[in-house]
Amino acid sequence: MPIPHSPLPTPHSPLPHFDVVVIGSGIGGLVTATQLAKKGAKVLVLERYLIPGGSAGYFERQGYRFDVGASMIFGFGKEGTTNLLTRALEAVNVNLETIVDPVQIHYHLPNNLDLKVDRVYERFLQNLIAYFPHEAKGIRGFYDECWKVFNCLNSMELLSLEEPGYLSRAFLQHPLACLGLVKYLPRNVGDVAKRHIKDPELLKFIDIECYCWSVVPADMTPMINAGMVFSDRHYGGVNYPKGGVGQIAEKLAEGLIKTGGEIHYRARVTKILTQKGCAVGVQLADGKVYYGKKIVSNATRWDTFEKLLSTNPIPINEKRWQQRYEKSPSFLSLHMGVKAEVLPPSTECHHILLEAWEKMAAREGTIFVSIPTLLDPSLAPKGNHIIHSFTPSWIDDWDSLSSAEYKEKKEATAARIIQRLEKIFPGIDAGLDYLEIGTPRTHRRFLGRQDGTYGPIPRHKLSGLLGMPFNRTAIPDLYCVGDSTFPGQGLNAVAFSGFACAHRIAVDLKL
Ligand SMILES: Cc1cc2nc3c(=O)[nH]c(=O)nc-3n(C[C@H](O)[C@H](O)[C@H](O)COP(=O)(O)OP(=O)(O)OC[C@H]3O[C@@H](n4cnc5c(N)ncnc54)[C@H](O)[C@@H]3O)c2cc1C
Repeated sequence: MPIPHSPLPTPHSPLPHFDVVVIGSGIGGLVTATQLAKKGAKVLVLERYLIPGGSAGYFERQGYRFDVGASMIFGFGKEGTTNLLTRALEAVNVNLETIVDPVQIHYHLPNNLDLKVDRVYERFLQNLIAYFPHEAKGIRGFYDECWKVFNCLNSMELLSLEEPGYLSRAFLQHPLACLGLVKYLPRNVGDVAKRHIKDPELLKFIDIECYCWSVVPADMTPMINAGMVFSDRHYGGVNYPKGGVGQIAEKLAEGLIKTGGEIHYRARVTKILTQKGCAVGVQLADGKVYYGKKIVSNATRWDTFEKLLSTNPIPINEKRWQQRYEKSPSFLSLHMGVKAEVLPPSTECHHILLEAWEKMAAREGTIFVSIPTLLDPSLAPKGNHIIHSFTPSWIDDWDSLSSAEYKEKKEATAARIIQRLEKIFPGIDAGLDYLEIGTPRTHRRFLGRQDGTYGPIPRHKLSGLLGMPFNRTAIPDLYCVGDSTFPGQGLNAVAFSGFACAHRIAVDLKL
């Protein structure tokens, strides 16, 4: 539907005209932009914030460089095809040194289940089997089945599943892998796990193995995503970018410019412009207008369809998507600088703390911890470490507070989290050197994500990943990329979405 009074392009328009305009420089947006620039498209990225990266950005305070969100990074492997971050950087001739993380997670779970997920697959299995010796066969059977999914994915180039030419090529070249993926696409982890494992406590462990990245239990977590995470951690492994996670976006932005693309910061898009129902451009908060043959939104689908487009009602397939998926909660984040003595010897970089299984998905239930300075000490002043700790939190709990109430609630919540962390880091409270507390309001404000959500989660049990939309939308020439498109949240996942989006657009533009 045309937007009344929107500035529309004319054949004599003096305004710049791009092949592709990308709204947002999260990893999804940047991978789309760099891939298209490399194929010769004239690309413009518009970012509302001061630096690129979105949830993979950073901020600096008093000598500390804090990752905003992500810090357990997949996709930096050297082999196969699932190492999408390595590939995205290489494509635009930039590189980033990474540091091997020997343990993906150290779990501190109910009933003294204290377990490290070692980078070496066999060691991880042995650690888990030591707790559940009666399930040795089931444990191996389940995780080996995850490898089957991974091996299918890792044998072919990962591009757009909505491009028939690619699908037939992939099928001709890798028929067995394709059939394997078709088999697992509609499946969830819970169903597969229950075929191998009977012990309820072990099934709870599989739940948190999923929850800590999908934010839903195994029954609702697609098998395709689990195949990636549960296997790649032992294949390409978890690797931390030297200089902090923010370096990934900085390097991609550098590669984009080197490849002829443009990126503008403090450029908040307020409207996607349409003409005869097709997306044709964008308008910024300061009134500037940019036109493109294709418009890509790296904002969430909720922000894209409810705020940036004035089509009312929203397209029917978006409505259906919203009936299948809801916004996950946001997080309460504690960005702490601590004295090095707080960390016991042999502390690992990533931890999950949960005292009662029934609290796993509750507010302030699971606590996630990252200590990136164990891998890259340059991120903190000498003798100190960063501890980033976060836990699920909902915008409704924070939205209507006065500033005094907001401050008081932040401090009270942080005190509760710190008290719980004393269990794994005795003396953390006394050893605090710096503390900054982020709430769902902070995530909404600085990341531009509705309600500060981490991303979409199924409202009820769905058929695996079948319900997740690809990059094209109901509005011709408008594409979405990032965590509210296939295959979902996580840096390597949104990089996949970026490769797929760029591929589909390149075919549509005949590049
Ligand atoms: C606390 C936390 C911890 C996490 N931990 C991990 C982890 O350990 N490992 C992992 O792989 N993943 C992790 N994630 C998830 C991961 O960070 C995200 O899934 C991923 O970064 C999302 O990327 P994206 O490209 O979809 O979007 P985003 O990162 O949300 O980027 C979107 C960009 O678009 C910009 N934008 C939005 N609207 C507009 C507009 N109107 N105009 C202009 N610009 C706009 C935003 O400013 C932002 O820069 C974590 C996330 C959080 C919040």
